[in-house]
Amino acid sequence: AKQAGRGAYQFFNEEMNAAAHERLHLENGLRGALERGELELYYQPKVDIKQRRVVGCEALLRWNHPKLGIVSPVRFIPVAEECGLIVPIGDWALREACRQMLEFQRSSGQNLVVAVNVSALQFTQRNFVDSVRQALDETGLTPQCLELELTESALMKDTDGALDTLKALSDMGVRLAVDDFGTGYSSLSYLKRFPINCLKIDKGFVRDLETDVDDAAIVNAVINLAHSLRLTVVGEGVETEGQLQFLLERGCEEAQGFYFDQPLRAEAFQTVLRNTPPA
Ligand code: C2E
Ligand code: CA
Ligand code: CA
Ligand code: CA
Repeated sequence: AKQAGRGAYQFFNEEMNAAAHERLHLENGLRGALERGELELYYQPKVDIKQRRVVGCEALLRWNHPKLGIVSPVRFIPVAEECGLIVPIGDWALREACRQMLEFQRSSGQNLVVAVNVSALQFTQRNFVDSVRQALDETGLTPQCLELELTESALMKDTDGALDTLKALSDMGVRLAVDDFGTGYSSLSYLKRFPINCLKIDKGFVRDLETDVDDAAIVNAVINLAHSLRLTVVGEGVETEGQLQFLLERGCEEAQGFYFDQPLRAEAFQTVLRNTPPA
């Protein structure tokens, strides 16, 4: 019986396996990654579709792991959210994005906007508004040049609390966007109550909009909904001229995607800005 027990335990051990071990491995590495300077923000240009010019960027985290190389946020953000590390990491990303944006503005002479992703756990921290105010104060970035990207799930967790937080941010002058719009369990009534500026159409809807009539209908509807509520729209994951034309014809204001640029290191984004003629 002992023998079988041990066998079963070993079997379980192997089964609990890859996924759990990778998680633990990433979590251990992630502790201290900030202090070791292993996290870096990349910047993906956001383009005004009508004028075809860069009007800002989205800051996207990358982890330069000493052994694994560049780790995608798709892998480590869920781990960071689960163990709470997303709070200090997100706070760092907020300050770093504001600092870097001021540098982009100074070197380009353009009034660009930086969009920063905020996870639900970070957004619901009691001192979130203070940490945003601090990031702006410490770096000197104009509040109107900072946009926070929130997911529907972050907004729907505690809608009364969310409303207070959003109002405080909006009063400060910070822009607010709903990320991955249409993928969450959204109640549309919150769009009316919350002081939101912008909807980002999820790339899952953009990908096939040239061939899939349902995706085209959804994108169309989201743009119309946004405009009826006086919100601007960003199409994300734009990879083709056809997708861009579709969005242009329907009045979508901004786009980002591989058709223009991948997320870029700060120096590469500076180069893109140098090649953008002043407005
Ligand atoms: P997201 O906020 O929806 O970011 C857009 C993702 O789409 C990025 O993936 C970007 O690289 C990718 N993308 C951009 N253009 C295209 C395109 O044309 N085609 C395709 N297929 N993909 C495109 P990335 O950088 O891997 O980030 C993944 C997710 O990780 C983000 O999704 C966001 O949810 C999360 N994330 C990244 N940085 C942060 C951060 O600082 N804080 C938090 N909380 N989450 C972050
Ligand atoms: Ca985003
Ligand atoms: Ca998104
Ligand atoms: Ca996403």
